[in-house]
Amino acid sequence: MQERSLHLLSVVAPMLDEEDVAREFHRRVSTALAGIPFELVIVDDGSTDRTPTILDELAEVDPRVRVVHLSRAFGHQMAITAGLDHARGDAVVMIDADLQDPPEVIPELLAAWEGGADVVVAKRRERPGETRFKLLTAKAFYSVMGRLAQIDLEPNAGDFRLLDRSALDALLQLRERSRFLRGMTSWVGYEQAVVEYDRDARHAGETKYPLRKMIRLAIDGVSSFSHFPLQIATVIGFWISAIAFLGLPLVIIARYSGIYDRGVPSVLFAVLFIGGFQLMTLGVIGEYIGRIYDEVKRRPLYIVKSTANVREHEHDVA
Ligand code: UDP
Ligand code: MG
Repeated sequence: MQERSLHLLSVVAPMLDEEDVAREFHRRVSTALAGIPFELVIVDDGSTDRTPTILDELAEVDPRVRVVHLSRAFGHQMAITAGLDHARGDAVVMIDADLQDPPEVIPELLAAWEGGADVVVAKRRERPGETRFKLLTAKAFYSVMGRLAQIDLEPNAGDFRLLDRSALDALLQLRERSRFLRGMTSWVGYEQAVVEYDRDARHAGETKYPLRKMIRLAIDGVSSFSHFPLQIATVIGFWISAIAFLGLPLVIIARYSGIYDRGVPSVLFAVLFIGGFQLMTLGVIGEYIGRIYDEVKRRPLYIVKSTANVREHEHDVA
C-alpha cells in the first residue's frame, strides 16, 4: 500500500436544532485539526432554532466552514448525504455534531488512511450518557443485522468514519432513498480499517433520535441489505403446510373414532394464528413495496434552500 498525503480533509456534520452545540463543535474541530488543511461541511437539517444563524455567522468569520441549509428536516442520513455531496476533500470524515464523536479522534482516522485504508470506521469502546435501553436495543439490532444482512457491519460503530475519495465516489453513486450509510460504506468494499475510541456523552441539548426514528433506521438497515423478512413467509408457510399435511390422516382417524366434536376452540386458534401470521407477512411485503414505490418516484434525496461559502452550481446532484 502506498503512503498518501492529504490535500484537503472534509469534515461532514449534520445538525438539527443544535444551537447549544454548534459553536463549541466548530471550536473543538478547529483545535483538533490545527495544522491540517480541512473544510467543515455542516448541513443544517431544517433546524427551527438559532442553529442556521449561528452557522452563517461561523461561515462568515471562518472560510473553512461551508454550510448547506436544507429546505426542511430530511433526516440524519439524508443530511449526511447532502454534506458528502458537497465535500471536496480527498478524504472525508462523517461525524455527529453533538460532540459524542470526539473530533480529537479524526487525526487517528487520518493516520489509518495515510497507511492505506480507504474506509476507516471509528468504533466506540465506551458509551457514557446513553440509556441502558439504547445500548440494549443497539446490541440487539447489530446481532440481528449481522445474521440477516449480506454485509459486514461493525457492531458498536455509528456513522463516525473516514472515507477515501475513491470509496466516497462509489458511495455517492448509491442514490437509494432508504439510506443506511453505515451499511452502504461497507457495501462499497475497499480497504476497511477500524479505530477504537471512547464515546463521550452529548455535549448539550438532547438526542434527536427518539425511538420512532431509531426503529425507522433499523428497518431501513435490514430492508436495504436483506430479503430475509420476505422469505420468512415462505419458510413458515412450508412448515405449517407440512404439519397440516401430516395431521390430515390424524383428523380423519379422529373423526371416525368420535374424539372430534370438541375441536372448535383448537380450530379457532389455528385460524387466528394463521390469519395473524398472514397479516404480518403482508405487512412485511407492504414495507418492501412501499420502499419500491418511494424509489421509483425518483425524488431528490433532499432540497437545498441556501448555502454559505459554497459556490452556486458547484454541485447539481441531489
Ligand atoms: N441529526 C439530524 N437530523 C435528524 C436527527 C439527528 O441532522 O433527524 C443530527 C444531530 O443534530 C446530531 C447527529 O445527527 O448532530 C446525531 O444525532 P443525535 O446525537 O441526536 O443521535 P444519537 O447520538 O442520540 O443517536
Ligand atoms: Mg448523539
